[in-house]
Amino acid sequence: MPFNLRLLLPIFVFTFLLSACQPAPKEYKQTLLVFGTLVNITIYDTDASKAAAMIKAISDDLNFMHEAWHPWKPGPLGRTNTLLAQTEWFSANPSVMPLITLGQQLWHDSDGLFNPAIGHLLGLWGYHQDDPPQGPPPSANEIKKWLSQNPRMSDIETKGIRVRSSNAAVKLDFGAMAKGLAVDRVIEQLKKNGIEHAIVNAGGDLKAIGRHGDRPWRIGIRHPRQDGSVLAAVEVNDSESVFTSGDYERFYTFEGKRYHHIIDPRTGYPAGQSTSVTVIHPQAAVADAAATALFVAGPEQWQDIALKMKLQYVMLVDKHGQVHITPAMAKRIDWLGNDVQLKISQP
Ligand code: ADP
Ligand code: MG
Repeated sequence: MPFNLRLLLPIFVFTFLLSACQPAPKEYKQTLLVFGTLVNITIYDTDASKAAAMIKAISDDLNFMHEAWHPWKPGPLGRTNTLLAQTEWFSANPSVMPLITLGQQLWHDSDGLFNPAIGHLLGLWGYHQDDPPQGPPPSANEIKKWLSQNPRMSDIETKGIRVRSSNAAVKLDFGAMAKGLAVDRVIEQLKKNGIEHAIVNAGGDLKAIGRHGDRPWRIGIRHPRQDGSVLAAVEVNDSESVFTSGDYERFYTFEGKRYHHIIDPRTGYPAGQSTSVTVIHPQAAVADAAATALFVAGPEQWQDIALKMKLQYVMLVDKHGQVHITPAMAKRIDWLGNDVQLKISQP
């Protein structure tokens, strides 16, 4: 060994010992397959046995909610859908009541652009099955017939767990909100159990508590037109959720035309003006439903809906790639050197 390196050796050893003595940050991660997506749970700065117990409890809860809130498989929501079609009063499974009541409120606040009563329309488009749909898209007549039935959340009356629809065409699908509500529930559970720092990330839609060590949690927002690349990054504060709706999540191509899974309840067709919408909100269920509603609203109407839903942080990428954004959101976004065309406006 040359002389100078021999001199440095004690310094290397000392540095190594020093870093070995420092307790490594305790981070526990688990990936679950639930709600049709990979859910990553990260719990930071707690002991191993507590983290393991919490991850097990969260996994059970998420699986329970997935089963209970599944729109077309037999289960509490599936049964609710069968009975709603009979237009008589019935006792619903209590697990579906929070979906119905919050769903009614968000339907109202979004001027009906978030409409979880459109299950039959989603079925016409092939989005009520596990396999990716192949087409063909529904005929103009089928869409017209569905539009004339006009199923809305206001068709549903509730008294406790007694429920009735006055419109037989109502079929509930909470695909645009259930994941958000589940993430809210899981985060509540973590907080109640004394966990202070964690993030629950369901395929890019997430909610965080606390911090990631000495810095805030920071996440990437997917580029809607460049597969696998990140458009922007944002720091997530304590008890905030970030949800994105994009036309790239589920779609099929039929005779050269692309048909995606976010449907405009006013026309019956996939909403054509946006490619992705990101919303930050304390309630994940609201962020989830709002991202879908604003996607449908598009670049001309998103401010109206954002105002009605009292949203502060919104970013909408339109079909030309232009980014429409609230001033509060613009302040928080790191564009990572991407060349973006911004249109900042206060709703
Ligand atoms: P993702 O779940 O892919 O992140 P969204 O949160 O936007 O995306 O939810 C899309 C799902 O919501 C669709 O697959 C469908 O089940 C349902 N959906 C589609 N359009 C609407 C709408 N206008 N209102 C309510 N739910 C919708
Ligand atoms: Mg949504």
